[in-house]
Amino acid sequence: MARYTGPSCKLCRREGSKLYLKGTRCYTEKCGLDKKAYAPGQHGKNQKKVSDYGVQLREKQKMKRLYGVLEGQFRKYFERATRSAGITGEILIQLLERRLDNVLYRSGFATSRKEARQLVRHDHVLVDGKKVNIPSYSIKSGQVVRIADASKKLQRISDAIEGADGRGVTPEWLLVSKDNFEANVSRLPERSDVGYDMQESLIVELYSK
Ligand code: SF4
Repeated sequence: MARYTGPSCKLCRREGSKLYLKGTRCYTEKCGLDKKAYAPGQHGKNQKKVSDYGVQLREKQKMKRLYGVLEGQFRKYFERATRSAGITGEILIQLLERRLDNVLYRSGFATSRKEARQLVRHDHVLVDGKKVNIPSYSIKSGQVVRIADASKKLQRISDAIEGADGRGVTPEWLLVSKDNFEANVSRLPERSDVGYDMQESLIVELYSK
């Protein structure tokens, strides 16, 4: 599967926003954006005024990169959102939040969505007792996500759980039991649960042209 393999911090600097792509480092003074709070490249410090289109484009890139989704897949999420009842931008975010890799990250079992994707792909995760190795799997209300018994001793999972409170990424719709290595999806996420500075209406405008 295609994925971005370039430097993560450059993406945050390009978007001018923390995207939390590097796990625990993102929560320390080593954060690349905190150290260099300007866009990468020769002209990074001297950015010109951005057009309306440019602002919409950057908002779309920011959301894609935050959730680790490539263009084609992001477009499919958008099309699915337009076919659903409700506000398109909010449904788009809800679909992204419902991804299994995001749920693992939000539950504190991984320090980043990238790490969460690896856990899912490597068969460390169960949904309602069955192994699921598809990071984009869309979680439903009432489902239970759990770390497989054989994987509970993995150091990186224990470390992630230990530092979860410090990262503060777990929303109200996930009821996490650290002792049981499981998260109960009590309801679907709402826009107010997300907690990131995103202007989804700009993405809707961009794709509606
Ligand atoms: Fe982004 Fe900072 Fe994390 Fe680098 S360390 S990925 S700049 S949030």
